[in-house]
Amino acid sequence: MIRVVCPGSFDPVTNGHLDIISRAAKLHDEVIVAVLSNPSKQSLFTADERVEMLSEVTKGLANVRVAKFNGLTVDFCRANDVSAIFKGLRAVSDFEYEMQMAQMNYRMAKVETLFMTTNPLYSFLSSSLVKEIARYGGDVSGLVPDTVLSRLRERLAEE
Ligand code: ADP
Repeated sequence: MIRVVCPGSFDPVTNGHLDIISRAAKLHDEVIVAVLSNPSKQSLFTADERVEMLSEVTKGLANVRVAKFNGLTVDFCRANDVSAIFKGLRAVSDFEYEMQMAQMNYRMAKVETLFMTTNPLYSFLSSSLVKEIARYGGDVSGLVPDTVLSRLRERLAEE
């Protein structure tokens, strides 16, 4: 049984995340999408809202489940019998940080990290850029699932 975890903030989930999650699901028995709930980190959506959106957009993927977590990813891995951390790499700029994290996670807990290169359609896509564009009235349709698009518009209208 190979179970991997896709950790992140997912504030909010984008089509780039979904692409990586669905490709991870094709290669492994189970994928846990682990939503980092860090109260000290400012987020647009609460951890529960982020979990709800992810659950909605991954409901067609039978071997994917969504969980909320706090603290170190390696502790989450130990507690959930996870074989490896699974991450998407967008560009060389992601690489340096991800390599450092992967090596530290291995050093701390012998947890492996697997990388998959992003679909070039999404290599420029990040949650923070989506929020920034949407905040100034730009069109982010096609970059996030439709359900996220409407929640994003609602939330930003409240600001
Ligand atoms: P964080 O909050 O750790 O910066 P995110 O929630 O933005 O992370 O993303 C979680 C993970 O999803 C990233 O570490 C990366 O592995 C993957 N990811 C994010 N955006 C993309 C994308 N456009 N294409 C492929 N993978 C992505």
